[in-house]
Amino acid sequence: MVSRVIPVESFDLVIFGGTGDLARRKILPGLFRRFCAGQMPEDARILGAARAELDDEGYREFVRDAIVEFDGERPKTCPKLAEFLATLGYVTTDARGEAGWPDLAARLREGRVRAFYFSVGPGLFGDIAERLHRHGMAPRDSRIVVEKPFGRDLETARQLNATLAEHFKEDQIYRIDHYLGKETVQNLMAVRFGNMLFEPLWNSQYVDHIQITVAETVGVGGRGGYYDKSGAMRDMVQNHLMQLLCLIAMEPPAKFDPDAVRDEKLKVIRALEPVEPHHIVRGQYDASEEEGSYRDHAENPTSKTESFMALKTHVSNWRWAGTPIYLRTGKRMKARTSEIAVVFKDTPHSIFGPEAGQHRNVLSIRLQPNEGITLGVTIKEPGPGGMRLVDVPLDMTFADALGPEAEEVPDAYERLIMDVIRGNQTLFMRGDEVEAAWAWTDPIIQGWEARGDVPKLYDSGSSGPEDALMLMHRDGRKWREIKA
Ligand code: NAD
Repeated sequence: MVSRVIPVESFDLVIFGGTGDLARRKILPGLFRRFCAGQMPEDARILGAARAELDDEGYREFVRDAIVEFDGERPKTCPKLAEFLATLGYVTTDARGEAGWPDLAARLREGRVRAFYFSVGPGLFGDIAERLHRHGMAPRDSRIVVEKPFGRDLETARQLNATLAEHFKEDQIYRIDHYLGKETVQNLMAVRFGNMLFEPLWNSQYVDHIQITVAETVGVGGRGGYYDKSGAMRDMVQNHLMQLLCLIAMEPPAKFDPDAVRDEKLKVIRALEPVEPHHIVRGQYDASEEEGSYRDHAENPTSKTESFMALKTHVSNWRWAGTPIYLRTGKRMKARTSEIAVVFKDTPHSIFGPEAGQHRNVLSIRLQPNEGITLGVTIKEPGPGGMRLVDVPLDMTFADALGPEAEEVPDAYERLIMDVIRGNQTLFMRGDEVEAAWAWTDPIIQGWEARGDVPKLYDSGSSGPEDALMLMHRDGRKWREIKA
């Protein structure tokens, strides 16, 4: 297997908020990895733009420290750190004022792909967009990248879309959901639409249910104040879990092109049924011996914000009528894991008798840790002693199948930034998708607010509140174990 890294065109990338946490942890180390892989051209230029008073040299130091802190092994194996740092520059810029803008404009070059990463709070999007135009920095083929949170309800998402649309066309706006940048998520599409094997079974006739779990072991930590205004539904379900659900449930697009894929995802969101109150479970983690409770971390002793959320929904269309979809996400859980499981129905009749047990095929798509796809199949347990059946995984894990020479799997951010440079929007959310997701989410949140629901406490390090288990048990089903 020969690794195939296709270099992108030369570009100028401006990172607004280039000194922020996201830039330090994800964007800049990710760009360095693409540089090491030979995908980022040496004459590309990255400009940090933020409030801090730094010059180019100061920013290079800052980025060097970030790379050492967040990807310390890389510089030991890739000798190109100095060359990478030479592509960097910095302009002290005030998004709300005039400082820095003429300098920034003067440093952009003609004839390159031009991208602006808005790694700042959404309150600054309008200010930055307006100034980019006023200073003549945003030609028709330039791109902007925006981060979550994309609104906190339908109304604010619409306002944000409208603000961006004043200055940029939809084909210039790249709304990042880093879950879509994961290798396995794209592999899911390859498995579904590149094989004859699965698609005929991919419907309510053969699929018993689908469950999606995103479990974190961390609590809200230092972000308690921010998180308390958001909660698991807004922070995780409306965006990340929704995107995964779309990819698993969508119809085959006619082409693997941005609008064909996003049209199909939008249809899924629009076909989602409203969620009944008794199909919603919200939780808050309790204190453990070592750590405080959610309410301690949020510094809000009466907080009703959920750090855990489970729900059951349906996609109302021909393909999925009758197949429930269960979503679950939480903080301070037993293990850090993200998985989509497609659980197939029992065989209609067991020829092996009751002692062989009932076995089910499960297609498991793991996003973390150990990204990969496995299909559980039932076989005979080897050896004498009759027909005993066991489930074994057929492993479709990318790295194992393609061997050690396969290119190292890029992190989601790296891949998505390279897609921005290539001008490929397939793995980015379109404005109408985001709004449709809020249109489904809003009544759920409004419902529990109107009822005054209080989240159930759950033990830190557990699988969430008991009620979440009951959500499945009542239907004669069970969640897959949360394990690392
Ligand atoms: P941060 O607070 O660490 O950094 C904010 C950056 O914006 C800093 O560089 C700061 O100098 C700059 N900034 C603030 N006000 C400015 C102004 N008036 N003019 C110019 N620059 C200004 O924030 P962050 O954690 O890096 O997050 C950035 C965005 O990304 C936010 O919208 C956040 O919600 C989103 N996001 C962050 C993460 C993460 O892991 N940190 C993950 C997903 C989404």
